[in-house]
Amino acid sequence: MQRNANQTSSTCCYCGVGCGVLIDTEIIDGKKVIVGVQGDPSHPANLGKLCSKGANLHLTAAPTIQNQARLTKPELREDKAQERQTVSWDNALDHAAIRFAQIIQEHGPDAVAFYVSGQLLTEDYYIFNKLAKGLIGTNNIDTNSRLCMSSAVAGYKASLGADAPPCSYADIDHAAVFFISGSNTAFAHPVLYRRIEQRRSQSTADQRQSKTIVVDPRMTDTAREADLFLPILPGTDVALYNAMLHQMLWEDWIDKRYIDAHTEGFEVLRSEVRNCSPAWASRICGVPEADIITAAKWFYEGPTLSLYCQGLNQSTQGTDKNTALINLHLVTGQIGKPGAGPFSLTGQPNAMGGREVGGLANLMSAHRDMADPIHRREVAALWNINEVPSRPGKTAVEMFEAVRQGQIKAIWIACTNPANSMPDSLKVKEALQVAQFVVVQEAFNGTATAEYADLLLPATTWGEKEGTVTNSERRISRVRAAVAPFEQARNDWEIAADFARRLQIKLSRLRLASDKINFDYPSPEAVWNEHRESTRLRDLDITGMSYDLLEHQGPQQWPMPLGAKEGQQRLYTDGKFATPSGKAKLLFSQYQPIIDKTSARYPLVLNTGRLRDQWHSMSRTGLLGQAFSHESEPALEMNSVDMERRRLAEGDYVQVQSARAKIIVQVKQSTAVRSGQSFMSMHWGPEVLLSGAINELTQPAFDPRSKQPELKAAAIRVEKIVLQERLTIFGLVKPDQAITLQRRIAQILKSHQNEYQLCLPLPIDKRPGQTQVDEGLLVRIASSQKVAQDLIESITKIFALDDKRVLRYQDKKAGQMRVLWVNDGLLRFGLIQGDTRSEQWLMQMLQQYQVVPHQSQWMLLAGEASPIGLPKKSKTVCNCLGVTETTLGARINIIRNDNPVISQNDCLVALQKQTLCSTQCGSCLPEVKGIIRHNYSIASESSNAS
Ligand code: SF4
Repeated sequence: MQRNANQTSSTCCYCGVGCGVLIDTEIIDGKKVIVGVQGDPSHPANLGKLCSKGANLHLTAAPTIQNQARLTKPELREDKAQERQTVSWDNALDHAAIRFAQIIQEHGPDAVAFYVSGQLLTEDYYIFNKLAKGLIGTNNIDTNSRLCMSSAVAGYKASLGADAPPCSYADIDHAAVFFISGSNTAFAHPVLYRRIEQRRSQSTADQRQSKTIVVDPRMTDTAREADLFLPILPGTDVALYNAMLHQMLWEDWIDKRYIDAHTEGFEVLRSEVRNCSPAWASRICGVPEADIITAAKWFYEGPTLSLYCQGLNQSTQGTDKNTALINLHLVTGQIGKPGAGPFSLTGQPNAMGGREVGGLANLMSAHRDMADPIHRREVAALWNINEVPSRPGKTAVEMFEAVRQGQIKAIWIACTNPANSMPDSLKVKEALQVAQFVVVQEAFNGTATAEYADLLLPATTWGEKEGTVTNSERRISRVRAAVAPFEQARNDWEIAADFARRLQIKLSRLRLASDKINFDYPSPEAVWNEHRESTRLRDLDITGMSYDLLEHQGPQQWPMPLGAKEGQQRLYTDGKFATPSGKAKLLFSQYQPIIDKTSARYPLVLNTGRLRDQWHSMSRTGLLGQAFSHESEPALEMNSVDMERRRLAEGDYVQVQSARAKIIVQVKQSTAVRSGQSFMSMHWGPEVLLSGAINELTQPAFDPRSKQPELKAAAIRVEKIVLQERLTIFGLVKPDQAITLQRRIAQILKSHQNEYQLCLPLPIDKRPGQTQVDEGLLVRIASSQKVAQDLIESITKIFALDDKRVLRYQDKKAGQMRVLWVNDGLLRFGLIQGDTRSEQWLMQMLQQYQVVPHQSQWMLLAGEASPIGLPKKSKTVCNCLGVTETTLGARINIIRNDNPVISQNDCLVALQKQTLCSTQCGSCLPEVKGIIRHNYSIASESSNAS
């Protein structure tokens, strides 16, 4: 594809697939703005494809959104009791330098900390790391990657000697077996999943059909497509892998020559797994013994590519899970070969770039080891200082606990939202409340963490930033600015460097820091060049790369030392590993159960994970109403058996309690979770779920080596709660006001104490032939007390109803109220208090712009059933084209009626042709296939029955 003058090539800012994007811009009202985005066909990570999140990036960058959602100027409060006031950048950074210098002088360098982000670019990360470790002399710098990848890092280092994923995306095209473990790849890494689907539709070189084994406690969309699904009980992965190994040894499904030549520790491992039979593991993992044996056999037959993510990492045994899985690759010799290897999928866009520069509390630049004095000397020499600190810094959970305990007095948070995303988040909020000085550097104005900032600094974001990121396959891509920074926002690296220069003056006057360390960089390229130099002769040597080369030759994989023509696609092809002996280590781990054991008090396990169309704490994706059309509201998913046991019906309110907190949510029946388990998405934070958010419940205990917390498993109790007072308000608002109004409503709700309070965007269908003219908002309250009248009035006022057209029904005695506003035959607002059973069809009328004839408008005030025969509200499956589950079901029936013997594959093709669903970004393809499968299975059940 030819890039035109108004097109900038860059990289998607969401997941670790690291897709290349082409950003289209136009000059509108004299200003360059982002108007479109498409997949970059020349980028090797995605070859032109994008998922539903990436394909909508330009919508999040639209001026109507940005004008409402962005921070515009620095804001400061000198006293926590005051409101923040806008200040100049000079005042803001001078104030920060004074406060940091004072605290460092009085309490030492470890009294300050930096909590940064896997969403930062490598250049940003580099400066923050140099600022903390080089200038201040503290290793108290950690990142949200600690919640994401640190167990994978610890696993690679322990087994293979280096934090270096050996595989490439190209291996997908060579694999015959995909061993997907603890990863809902279809949702979390959709573009990679497309590539797996493509591979599965082809035969292997020896005419076998490729197979997929999925290991997951939940029947995810990825699991539904598996040839073999092992629904293990949460946290039992080590037992499963050890049993697979046991079976491989028993059957001689191993590569003894590879083991002898390239590994060490085999004899110990062999003797330790002797007791880990598939029968034993079957009891622990809750899966059939025969399936464990089949998994071991298929794995051995290979070539097997393991793809894994948070199911392994977010665990108190995360490192062991990683090493136990890597053992399987080493004993079968399935590593360093096309289509084979342990491939950790990176959750964030630049978690790997952060590790490359050493931006974690236990790392040093270019994968150097903090405990190694030679490595520390090398880094000190590079930075022109005497020494870098050897004391390991505090990792994420430890860091916020140290803030809460008063050991860390000032914390600088950049590009992340810990008040939302950290486990046991009430404690994190407590920490932010008691900290002497909190700096939040952030692009968006509505994050939960921003509320706690004493100093709030506006940063640039996707579309405005220049630098590099590294994706899951070690590929470094350029990130480019398509438009100017928003208002006074500055680049993250520039803010950090400017602050560092000011702090340096103060600390060097106090003789607390060197005045020789350099923070004067003319460009991000200059920062990157310094980082590049630090990698010379290291495992990730990138001295053969340059910005210019990345521009002309495209993204490259490390290592790429000086003289190399291109980056290295696959590691360990020669069987030499990065350990002192050059051999990979086979490490035995004993299975350990999850920390939060279930009990009579807490009988269920709560699992958390991603939604298809949302990202992390939704500070970006949550700005778009349409991102809520696939999953529109928070709910705790439970198995029907557990629901019946508690006499729960879909939509009931339940109190969910862990050892740390209790929250109230609605419950939803799901076939995806087994009895004894439950699931709720990680995205539902305090910004939308105002009465208590998901991470208040989750587990902060962490893996002793990786320090990654066990976000994936918390023991909970679920009890029905009767909240008689119900209020639902929904309405249309102008797109250029929707976010502002949502935030205003959230502020109003926060000053009330109803047990359940929710405010979020309501997805609105596009009117045929029109660009989006309205956005929607939804407010839901459930309470044991009467909902305050002033609250109802304040929220209603926000929707600016035209009183003359308002329909009202009120029965004060019965606590019933309905207020509807119909304008030009269209419902634009609804307020339903008391009996809310009519809300679904009313909301649907509003979302779909259903015309209400004037003479029938009074019928809208009716109670339960739809008087005008609307079909039941249906979930939007294909977000790109707004195709719903009901439409798909109806179409499948027609296709099958026309051709009763049509195969499922041909039915899919026909469905795609007729509805175009899953032909755009493809994110809904697994779900569409699932709907077809379901339709066929129902038909076959009913024909069997008859
Ligand atoms: Fe972005 Fe989706 Fe690609 Fe991930 S898979 S980088 S979210 S477009």
